[in-house]
Amino acid sequence: MQDHLTNVLRQKQHSCFTVAPGVMGMEIVFVNLYYIENPDKSWVLIDAGLYGSADRIRKAAEDKFGKGNPPKAILLTHGHFDHVGALQTLADIWQVPVYAHPLELPYLTGLSSYPPPDSSVGGGGMAYLSFMYPKKPITFKGRLELLPSDGSVPFLPEWKWIETPGHSPGHVSFFREHDRLLIAGDAFVTRKPESALAVLTQKQEVCGPPAYFTPDWEAARASVQKLNALHPEIAASGHGLPMRGQELKQGLEELARLFDQLAIPSKGRYVPEPAITDRQGVVQLPPTVNNTVPKVLATAGLVALAGLATYAFTKQRKSKTNARVKRSWPGYANPHSRYGSEHHVQEHASFTHDQDDNITNNYP
Ligand SMILES: [Zn+2]
Ligand SMILES: [Zn+2]
Repeated sequence: MQDHLTNVLRQKQHSCFTVAPGVMGMEIVFVNLYYIENPDKSWVLIDAGLYGSADRIRKAAEDKFGKGNPPKAILLTHGHFDHVGALQTLADIWQVPVYAHPLELPYLTGLSSYPPPDSSVGGGGMAYLSFMYPKKPITFKGRLELLPSDGSVPFLPEWKWIETPGHSPGHVSFFREHDRLLIAGDAFVTRKPESALAVLTQKQEVCGPPAYFTPDWEAARASVQKLNALHPEIAASGHGLPMRGQELKQGLEELARLFDQLAIPSKGRYVPEPAITDRQGVVQLPPTVNNTVPKVLATAGLVALAGLATYAFTKQRKSKTNARVKRSWPGYANPHSRYGSEHHVQEHASFTHDQDDNITNNYP
């Protein structure tokens, strides 16, 4: 226990942690991003943390890879605010392309907000405070490209990407076969996602995706089962420290087997039916459910934590996008997408539509 605490404190202090050879994580307040290095010393960044963290991310990169050695690209597991906060700044500084799944593009280009969060689920302080999180999608301006439909990962020849929708429509995970290393994003996480206390203590356990931002539970279950079938040896997720070995295997196997009991809330907006989305974003939402936020939960610590997140994202600019989409996915089918294969991604998209505020909460 003492060792674990010392380890946690040391990692907190530097906010970087080693996952495996060539893979380093960094935690920004409560969310992780990953630096992936190739044997030839080229590297990419997976996810882009909270707004305002670009300097920290860049400095850690310079310490590790040297000045004047930017990544080849930034890859996104998904576009929730806590994974894309520093994206624009970093892409501008480094002048690199950003890769994402086509079903994630509407939420990166300002075309659509994510399905609104369901703050009635999850139970913990982080969930109740989710109403405070930013509400608008980002409008990324720069080179936005699609992950190749053959599962290969640009600039990472040892890796494959895997479709893991549910927590978000175009959520993906990354897998390195030779040491069975999985970057799971938020498809599952290694810390109880709704608990602000767990953020502070770093207690590790395999948990389902953060419930308040998950709008399709059937897809989320299939994604966890798909990842479990890979039998990862090491799993690094969007929230929590990496897990490995037997502890990971048992936890993930149990989550896959008992997903309905362990991960799906007993009730909530997206439990009976999912949000329907397509390549333009949200198409249809289930009706809202009543939720009264217990004021008593707004303790100083919780507010401080959520305040950081809110600050991080309220600065997002609302503007029209000029994101350039350079690839299309002919014939590519997403098994979980109701609209997956028959739509082509817009080229040179110019998005203008503003949605009803009922469906513009932009959320993880
Ligand atoms: Zn997340
Ligand atoms: Zn998320």
